[in-house]
Amino acid sequence: MEQVAVVGSMSDPRLGFIGLGIMGRPMARNLMKAGFSLVVWNRSRAGIDELVAEGALEAANPRAVAQASDVVVTMVGDVPDVEDVALGRDGIISGAHSGLVHIDMTTISPDATRQIAERLAEAGVRMLDAPVSGGEPGAIAGTLSIMVGGEEAVFERCRPVFEALGKKIVYCGPSGSGQVVKLCNQVVVGLNNLAVCEALVLCVKSGVDPRRMLDAIGAGAASSWAVLNLAPRMLDRDFRAGFKVEHQLKDLDHALATANAAGISLAGTELVRDLFALLTAEGLGEEGTQALVKTLEAEAGIEVGG
Ligand code: NAP
Repeated sequence: MEQVAVVGSMSDPRLGFIGLGIMGRPMARNLMKAGFSLVVWNRSRAGIDELVAEGALEAANPRAVAQASDVVVTMVGDVPDVEDVALGRDGIISGAHSGLVHIDMTTISPDATRQIAERLAEAGVRMLDAPVSGGEPGAIAGTLSIMVGGEEAVFERCRPVFEALGKKIVYCGPSGSGQVVKLCNQVVVGLNNLAVCEALVLCVKSGVDPRRMLDAIGAGAASSWAVLNLAPRMLDRDFRAGFKVEHQLKDLDHALATANAAGISLAGTELVRDLFALLTAEGLGEEGTQALVKTLEAEAGIEVGG
C-alpha cells in the first residue's frame, strides 16, 4: 500500500466527528476539552446545537466533515450505518484527500470492517477500527477502554486522539482486530449480565434481601461491572438506556457470526442473545441492557426490586 503522511500536522490535527448519540456526544466534548478543533455532523439535530454552542463547527454531511478534517471519528449504530457515513453518496469517501484517516469507534463486525477499510484504502483513506468499552460513564469521564485494529503506524500517529477519550488504549493487530476484541468484551459483558439476573432472582425467591447480597458479593470474587452498575438499576426499576438492548443484541449476533466463521459454537452467548431478542420482540429494544432481568422475572413470577 502506498505510504502517505497521515495528516498535515498530527500535533494539531483537525478532527471531524459523526454520530452524536449517547456515546458520541460526550466523546466529541472530550476531544474539544483536549484542545482539538472539531467539525461535527449528526443525522438528526440532536446533539449538534449543544456541541456547536460549546465551540464545534457544523458540517452539512459526512463528505463536508471529511473535507474539513485530517481525522474523522465515527460513532454510529451498526454495519449499514457505518457503510452509509463512510461509503455512501455523501460519505467520507467522497471527501477523501491525501492523508485522511477514518477512525470508526462503532461496534460492528470484523468482516464488515475489513471490507469498508479496503474500499476506503482504494480512495487513499486509512481506516482504524477502534471500538470502546466503559459505557456512557466512561465516555463522559474520558476513561474508555479502546481496542484498535489497523496499521500500527497510523494508530501511533492517532494516539493523541485516543488519549483524549480513554485511559486504556490497546493496539490489537491488523484491520478488524479491534472489533474481534470488542466482541470478546461483549461476550463477557452479556454473560455477566445474565449471571447477575440469575443471582437476583435466586436471592429474592429464597427470601433474602438482594441489596445485602449485592453488598456482600460486590466486594468479593463475583464482583464485576454488571454487579456494581447494572444490578442496582434492576433493583431501582431504572431501565433507562446507558447501553441499549438492541445494541447488545447486535453485538452478540456479530460475536456468534464470527464464532461460526471460526468453526466454534458459544452456547452461553447463544442463550443470552436469545433473551435479548425476546426483549427486542417485546418492544424493549431501546431500554438499557439491565432490562434483561425482566425475562427471568417473567419466568419466576416475581420482580426483584421496586
Ligand atoms: P445511540 O445513542 O443510538 O447513537 C447512535 C448515533 O448514531 C446517533 O447519533 C444516530 O443519529 C447515529 N446514526 C445511527 N445510524 C445512522 C446512520 N445510518 N447515518 C447517520 N447517523 C446514524 O447509540 P450509542 O449508545 O451512542 O452507541 C453507538 C455505538 O457505540 C454502537 O455501535 C454501540 O454498540 C457502541 N457502544 C455503546 C456503548 C454504550 O454504553 N452506549 C458502549 C460501547 C459501545 P440520530 O441521532 O439521528 O439517531
